[in-house]
Amino acid sequence: MAGMVAPREASRRALIVEDEASIREIVRLHLSLAGFETEEVADGRAALDRLRTDRFDLVVLDVMLPGVDGITVCRAMRSGGPNQRAGVLMLTARDTEPDKVIGLESGADDYLTKPFGVREFMARVTALLRRASGGLSEPDRTKTGIVTSADVTLDPDRRQARVRGDLVELTKQEFDILYLLASRRGIVFTRAALIAKVWGEDVYVTERTVDSVVSRLRRKVERDPDDPEMLLTAWGVGYKFVDVGEAT
Ligand code: CA
Repeated sequence: MAGMVAPREASRRALIVEDEASIREIVRLHLSLAGFETEEVADGRAALDRLRTDRFDLVVLDVMLPGVDGITVCRAMRSGGPNQRAGVLMLTARDTEPDKVIGLESGADDYLTKPFGVREFMARVTALLRRASGGLSEPDRTKTGIVTSADVTLDPDRRQARVRGDLVELTKQEFDILYLLASRRGIVFTRAALIAKVWGEDVYVTERTVDSVVSRLRRKVERDPDDPEMLLTAWGVGYKFVDVGEAT
C-alpha cells in the first residue's frame, strides 16, 4: 500500500485514536508503510491532550471511545488549537445515515465503516490529504476536483456549473451548496450544517435562507423544480444530492 501515498507526504504525522488494539495496529502498520510518523492513543481524553499540544496532518478517529467519544473529540479539535485544519478520517461501527451525518457535521472529512479493508482505508487517507492540501478552511474547497452527475458538472476552480451541457450562472452560496451536496452524494446535510459550511459559523443566517437558496437552485438546475430529481429534501432533517442509483 506504500505506493498509494506520494513521497512528498513522507514526513506527515498521524494520530490514531482507537480503543481496539487490533485495528490500531493495522492502521499504524499501513500508515507507517506509507511514510507517516504515527502516534497512538486508546481513549478520547488522551486524544484531546495530544491534539491540544501537537499538530498532526491526519487524525484517524474512532467514534465509540471510552471516556470522551470521537464526535466530541472532533468538535473540540475543530473549534481551535493546532489541529483545526488537520485531516480527519472517522471510523464508525455502524453504517447508518445519522452516524455519517453527525460525523461529518462534527468536522470529519470522511468516514469509514468498520470492518474496512486496508486498500479502502489507504485510498480514503490519500484522497482526504489531497483535499486537505487544497485548503480545508475554505468551504468551496472542501473537495478539489470536478464533480459530475448525470445532469450536472461542477468545476470548483472555475466556479463553473454546467447543467445538461449548458453553463448556468450561480451565486457563490448557490454554487457552494450545490457543490457540497453533490460531492457527498446521498449524505444528508442539516440546514445548520449547510449554514456552518457555506456561510461560516460566525455569520447570522436563518434556516429559511437555506431553503430559499435551495429553491432558487432547483429552479436553475432541475428539469422540474417542483419535482426535484437531484436536490432532494430529507423531511425534517435537511437536504441531500440524489445518491448514485437512487430512484426519485
Ligand atoms: Ca471503539
